[in-house]
Amino acid sequence: MTNTLDPWSSSDIADYSKLFEEFGISPFDEILPEVPSPSTYMRRRVIFGHRDYEQIAEAMRTGAPFSVMDGFMPSGKIHLGHKMVMDQIIWHQQMGASAFVGIADREAFSVRGFSWQKCREIGTEEYILSLIALGFKPDGLIYFQSGCESVKDLAFELGVKVNFSELSAIYGFSGETNLSHMISVATQAADILQPQLEEFGGPKPVVVPVGPDQDPHLRLTRGLAGKMNMFRIEERENTNGWKYFSVRGKGAPKEALQELKKRIPGKVKLYEEHIDVLQTPDYPFLMRLVSEVRKADRKNQYLAEIESVSRFMEDAKPPEFAEYEKYFVFRKIWKLTKKILEQIVAEIAAEFGGYAFIPPASTYHRFMSGLQGGKMSSSVPDSYIALTDDPKEGAKKVKRAKTGGRVTLEEQKKLGGISEECSVFELLLFHLLEDDEELLEIRQECVSGTRMCGSCKQLAAEKMSEFLKDHQEKRELAREHLDEYRIIYKK
Ligand code: SF4
Repeated sequence: MTNTLDPWSSSDIADYSKLFEEFGISPFDEILPEVPSPSTYMRRRVIFGHRDYEQIAEAMRTGAPFSVMDGFMPSGKIHLGHKMVMDQIIWHQQMGASAFVGIADREAFSVRGFSWQKCREIGTEEYILSLIALGFKPDGLIYFQSGCESVKDLAFELGVKVNFSELSAIYGFSGETNLSHMISVATQAADILQPQLEEFGGPKPVVVPVGPDQDPHLRLTRGLAGKMNMFRIEERENTNGWKYFSVRGKGAPKEALQELKKRIPGKVKLYEEHIDVLQTPDYPFLMRLVSEVRKADRKNQYLAEIESVSRFMEDAKPPEFAEYEKYFVFRKIWKLTKKILEQIVAEIAAEFGGYAFIPPASTYHRFMSGLQGGKMSSSVPDSYIALTDDPKEGAKKVKRAKTGGRVTLEEQKKLGGISEECSVFELLLFHLLEDDEELLEIRQECVSGTRMCGSCKQLAAEKMSEFLKDHQEKRELAREHLDEYRIIYKK
C-alpha cells in the first residue's frame, strides 16, 4: 500500500506535507484567521490540515447550525491520543455545534472480535466517562452503533452506493476481508452523515476532527454523500465559456423534478449569467444580481450577507468600481447563489423523502509520539499515558520519557536541546501547559541551551499527576451523572 492510509494500523506519517498534495487536504494556516477564538490545538499548529473547514468557520461566525461528529472504537485503554479528539469535540460543542459521539462497537466486533458486552463495558468505562469528565455537555448525543437504528438503516442504504473495488482501492481490502468489516465501514460513513438526517434538523455542515490515518473514512463518506443525494448541483461551463450552476436529479421522482422546475426556472438565468460578469462586470449589472439573489432568498436566511454586499457596493464609490471590488462582489453573489440553490434543493429532497447531504468537513491533527520515541503502542504501556493511569505512575512515565536533550550537559549548553523531537515538550505543548507564552519561553530556553531536561521533566511530571488526579475525580462524578446524558445502548 503505497498511497493508501490505513486507519486500522497506526501508520507513522512522517511527512504531513505529502498529504496536502496526494489527498487534497488543505493547510489549516490558511483558514486560521477566519476561525473565531481558535482553540489551543489550532493556535499551536497541532491541527495542521482541513477539508472544507470554511463552512464550519462561517457557521461559527454567523450562528448557523452545524455539527461536530466523531467516533471511538472501544478497543482498549483511553489515552492522551483519544483526549485530543475529545477536546476538539468539546471545543466545537462550546462553539455552538450539536455534538454526536459514536462508540464504534460494530467495528470492534468485526475487526477485533470483541463481544457486544465487552464493547459496552469498554465504551462506557473508558470512553464515555472520560468524555463527560473532559466537559462534554448533556445536550450532545452519545450512541453505540449497534443500538442506533438510524445509523444502521443509513449504513444499509449507503451500502448500495459502494462496491468492493472501491473499498479495496481506499482501504486496501483483499479477498480475505470479512463482510462485517465492510459493513462497519458503511456504518462509519453513516455515523458521519447522521447529523444531517431530518430527525436531527436536516442538512448542515458537519466537522469530523481526525488524525490523518482516518482520512480514508472521510474520502469515502464525502463521495457517498454526493451519490446519495436526490439532486446534484454542479458548476459547469458552456461553449461560450460561461459558467453556470446545473441542478441534476437523476433518479429523482417525477413530482420532485416538477417541483424543482417550479422553484428554479425564474432564477436559471441568474445562475447562467454569473461568470460573464468576470469579463464585463459593471455596477448596474452587479446591482441587478444582488437584487435577484435577494428575491431568490425567499426565507431571508441570507439577509445579513446580502445586506453586507449591498452596503459594500454603496460604500465603494459606484459606478467606478475597482477590479478587485467587482471580483469581491461577484464571488460573494456566486457563493450566495449556491447556498440558496442548496437550500431549495434540500427542501424539495426532504419533501420527497430524499437526501441533500453536504460533504462532511474535517480537521487533521498531528499524532502524539510514544513516550519512548517512535509510535505509541497499546501493547507497550510505557509508550503512552492512559487517562486512568495512577497519577504517581503517570508522573513516573513522564520522568522515564525520551527527551530531545543531548548526551552530556556540556553539549546541551553548547548546542541546545531539540524540542521538536522531545516527547516531554510534546506533552506540555499538547496537554499540560495552557499559557502560550510560558511554552514559547521553555522552547526558547531549550534551543538556546539554558534549560536542562530535568526541569522540564519535573514540571511535566507534576502537571501530569495533577491532571490525572483531577480527571479521575471528574470521571467518578460523571459516573453518578450518566443518566443525565443521552446515551443509546444496544438493546
Ligand atoms: S530541555 Fe526540555 S524541551 Fe528541551 S529537550 Fe530537554 S526536556 Fe525537551
